[in-house]
Amino acid sequence: MPKPARCGNDPRAQLTPGDRAAVEEFREYLALRKILGDLAPMFEGLYGLLVTSSREWGEYPVDAWLYAVLVGWDCETDHEHDDVCGGAAAMAEMAERHGWSDEAVAKARRYRATVRAVALPAREEYSDLPARAFMENRCLLPPHGCGEPLIREDGTSRVFWDAAEAQRYETEYRRTGLCPDCQDTRAQREG
Ligand SMILES: [Zn+2]
Ligand SMILES: [Zn+2]
Repeated sequence: MPKPARCGNDPRAQLTPGDRAAVEEFREYLALRKILGDLAPMFEGLYGLLVTSSREWGEYPVDAWLYAVLVGWDCETDHEHDDVCGGAAAMAEMAERHGWSDEAVAKARRYRATVRAVALPAREEYSDLPARAFMENRCLLPPHGCGEPLIREDGTSRVFWDAAEAQRYETEYRRTGLCPDCQDTRAQREG
């Protein structure tokens, strides 16, 4: 007599301890995936809240820590860091200003890397990445930005009062992907 095929609907089917462990493991995996699925848009939403706020996130230690974990003070664009993006300079400045130890900085970077990894699917699905906007020379796509090219079709770009002003916009653009107009809108909305 052939061995009956094991089937979930067959009441005679007996789960071995190994089977049961595998089922349990799979259940845990599904639960974890659901949690991660909820965390991704949550972190992405928090990221959006912070980068579209004109608040000075570096001023107070608690704000600075939230920003370090949810947005990150380091430049996260995959390129050769320079004076404009600042590389790791902003994090060094925060550590100095708020008295963060090397361990605290390492912890913030570790948390940030985790948040970034968890939020990535949502960022790619629902919005955009500053690094991508930068590569394509445009503003972040809605809802965070306007998605417009930095240089208009007629070849004009914004006129800045001076080099320092231009550099401030540029630094903020590289960090957040928001064009000068969106940076202004953000400042006005909250000003
Ligand atoms: Zn950089
Ligand atoms: Zn814009």
